Amino acid sequence: FDVKARVGGGDGAFDGYEPSSAERAAYASEDGDVHVVVMGHVDAGKSTLSGRVLYALKAVDDRAVHKNLRDAKASGKSSFAWAWVMDSRPEERERGVTIDVSVKRCTLDERRQLVVLDAPGHRDFVPSAISGMAQADAGILVIDGAVGGFENGFEVTTGHTGQTREHARLAKYLGLHSLIVVVNKMDCVEYSLERFQHIVDALTRFLVGDVGFGAEQLTFVPASGMEGVNISPDDFALPEVLKAWYRGPTLVDALRSIKIPSRGEPKPLRLPIADVVTEVRSLGATACGGKIESGSVFKGQKVSIMPANITATIKCIEIDGLPVDFAGVGASVDVGLSDVDPLHLQVGSVLCHTAYPMTSTNEIEISVLTTEVLRVPLLKGSKVVLHSHMLSCDATVDQLIAQVDALTGAVIKPNPRCITREQSAILRLKTSQNVCVEPVEVSPTLSRVTLRMGGKTMAVGVVRAIWR
Ligand code: GDP
Repeated sequence: FDVKARVGGGDGAFDGYEPSSAERAAYASEDGDVHVVVMGHVDAGKSTLSGRVLYALKAVDDRAVHKNLRDAKASGKSSFAWAWVMDSRPEERERGVTIDVSVKRCTLDERRQLVVLDAPGHRDFVPSAISGMAQADAGILVIDGAVGGFENGFEVTTGHTGQTREHARLAKYLGLHSLIVVVNKMDCVEYSLERFQHIVDALTRFLVGDVGFGAEQLTFVPASGMEGVNISPDDFALPEVLKAWYRGPTLVDALRSIKIPSRGEPKPLRLPIADVVTEVRSLGATACGGKIESGSVFKGQKVSIMPANITATIKCIEIDGLPVDFAGVGASVDVGLSDVDPLHLQVGSVLCHTAYPMTSTNEIEISVLTTEVLRVPLLKGSKVVLHSHMLSCDATVDQLIAQVDALTGAVIKPNPRCITREQSAILRLKTSQNVCVEPVEVSPTLSRVTLRMGGKTMAVGVVRAIWR
């Protein structure tokens, strides 16, 4: 006889939780890491721009760049030289399981580090884009400004939806609070104001009108990753044509203006495992990496690995390969663990405070908005793939609870027979294995979900409640 209890709201969930003073300080601080995910249609120039930004912020030295330029030329692919900066991974950090998002870190300004997550744009890779976005504070949406380029990435035609739309919707629903829209390849259109304005207008209509971003969350930046134009304030002067009409920030200026919203009161540790690290000698045989979504970690701390509910001890912590004794909320860390079998470390599991672990569940109630790519209506019994923070898992729609109004949440139809595209609904899902997610009232980040079917993102939303 299986009676489960519905767990929704956050009030009182963490009663009695006592954060350490170091943890409090980390919550209050405006310093730390700014996580930015680079998104956009394939070939928009994401890797090239990321390479340029890292060079501008001195994360790669001249020698490495020259070597890349030389190697690229030798292999007849000079145009890819900058992208290689982003794509090359240091040999000593061989990782066991990776999420296919390349991560680079550099100094943004005196107080803050920039963590650049480069999500591949190929259709098949959207799950990695989701993982990248789940960790990000802000997004860079790269648009191919060349004639035909923007249209190809943005237009909806039969059998083909540009990834610009899909990534923008994901960005909104995964909670990115600001978006820098880079209109790239401006060299191809002679830095034309008309072209820039046309793209800005079309995207503003879509991002504000359809996706729901506020206009103040968007910054539009014209650039050329290839020519290195309008990337950094330290660069050579802008081309005359661009200087004649553009007064806004360079891409690096726009990145430095990113504000991380206040973090509120400290909450118990949640560190979703983004990758399992092997062969990094300083970390030991059992290690993993990810972003601290709440709480903090310190050496010697006992943690619960959920949903397996296994205890482990934090043996060492590294930030960017350097050992530290403590790491606070928002930091990207690698941790070495002891007293645990490496088999228990899995991407999508979460390191939790032992006294306040996440609940493991196989039944969740979610509210979602279906996208324009949903071709077959959602029914009771529909099979989907659930993505949330780092986890992905097969799931079945167990109940269509209600169709609701997308803006007000008011019930339009209880117990609908099906849900079609661009509708809002409350659904109950059964997952094929136990997972850890949190209701939105408890955690805005660990409650974000996307549902995919046949390789396409057909719904995005949040967890309202879990059943245990
Ligand atoms: P990604 O797939 O979005 O990462 O795109 P890449 O950075 O790999 O670039 C795709 C192609 O566009 C490559 O051939 C680049 O050389 C080219 N490209 C990138 N940025 C620019 C640019 O600003 N202007 C021009 N003309 N070509 C660019």
